[in-house]
Amino acid sequence: MELDTGVDDVLGMIDERMLDRDESVDPMALLAYYRRLLPFKSLYTWLNHDVGPTRNFTNREFAFTLQSDVYLRYQSFSGWDEWKKEVCRLNPSRFEIGPVYSAKPKDRKTLQKATFRPVAREVVFDIDMTDYDEIRTCCSDKHICRRCWKLIAVAVEVLDSTLREDFGYKHLLWVYSGRRGIHCWVSDSAALALPDEARKALVGWTEVIRGSANQAKKVSVGTHAPGAPRVLHPSLRRALGGDVLSSTGTDASTPASKGPLQRAFVEVILRDQNVFAEAPRWEVLLALLPPHEADAIARLQAKWAAGPRTSVQKWDDVLDVASKSAERTKGAWIATLEDIVLQYTYPRIDAEVSKRQNHLLKSPFVVHPSTGRVCVPLEVDDVQHFDPEHTAPTVAQLLRELNRHQGDDKALHTKSEWENTSLRPYVEQLDRFTSRILHEARDAKRTTTKHTLDF
Ligand SMILES: [Zn+2]
Repeated sequence: MELDTGVDDVLGMIDERMLDRDESVDPMALLAYYRRLLPFKSLYTWLNHDVGPTRNFTNREFAFTLQSDVYLRYQSFSGWDEWKKEVCRLNPSRFEIGPVYSAKPKDRKTLQKATFRPVAREVVFDIDMTDYDEIRTCCSDKHICRRCWKLIAVAVEVLDSTLREDFGYKHLLWVYSGRRGIHCWVSDSAALALPDEARKALVGWTEVIRGSANQAKKVSVGTHAPGAPRVLHPSLRRALGGDVLSSTGTDASTPASKGPLQRAFVEVILRDQNVFAEAPRWEVLLALLPPHEADAIARLQAKWAAGPRTSVQKWDDVLDVASKSAERTKGAWIATLEDIVLQYTYPRIDAEVSKRQNHLLKSPFVVHPSTGRVCVPLEVDDVQHFDPEHTAPTVAQLLRELNRHQGDDKALHTKSEWENTSLRPYVEQLDRFTSRILHEARDAKRTTTKHTLDF
């Protein structure tokens, strides 16, 4: 079948028979989504940091994965309309956004190698459920539900506050990855300019969990000196809170003195996921306890093997042993318990994604090829209420919504078709995010001009 690749013939009923497939996305439905709904102009203004084209956009690399799985790198465009035309012509199953180069990526073959290099790029983070498989109990493999999504929500809360409070970044765009993870794009000008060495340092800072799946202890944030409490970096202390020896409480409330990680540990890890219910997982917990407490650990093992105890009960058993331990071992116990809380709740990021300017990352608003869900931006406060299975709009749903509005008065008077669909709040969110970046850029320019005039 010959595809009509024009971009202008956007109005018309969509054949809903192609929307009924459950799993994969029909190529014709995807093309209709690109033509009529994907907000190219909003994405362009966000990446460009200005209304008129700048190098932030024209020298930016885009990469397309075609339906045939052919991967096209180093695509670049003069503006959003050219970008959209090419996407509609190639109808890729997805596309990614890379760095801003010293020259236009499409011209790279005419340049000397040394003169073509990445010069700017948002700092990006990727948090994926793959790294939580040894923790969650509700789902496995490619599945995800509201309950395990809470682990992602805790990671977002902590990483967001670290990036804002410890690094001073303001413009953080969180985007659902379409299946079982989330991306963060840091769009501050200072972040864009960050060289790779600084990116590695920043990532090293946020990497508290290290080690492979078959290694019990994955956290090492320093030991305590005998007789003195352990000194943790203020950022970790803020996320953890104090009071790790106090009990989980029998009611549903968790004291405010416990930071977000301890609250998440009690509410999500112990109560909701019940991580330490079954044998291999509670054995990991025992392996993490201080080795010099062999007798106490053996008693816990015997008690837990004898009959079912919930994770809350097991953690209270551990706290009981810790509280009754000799005064000289209290410091070691506190450090151990804090490390366990960190290991089960601290953000697990895919560090390789963040370390280099030239890493490509899936664009917001593309469609996940196997779920049909749109990779929508999320406000940080909305992440915890987000339900990946039901909240994110799918291509089929959006195209049906377009059909429903076909020909009605309201639809004829809107500037963009996405305004008549559930995509609207997400596009408006990106536009608000971008306008804050644009305001800041304008203010910075005004200050520079004023200084020049004063001189
Ligand atoms: Zn789940």
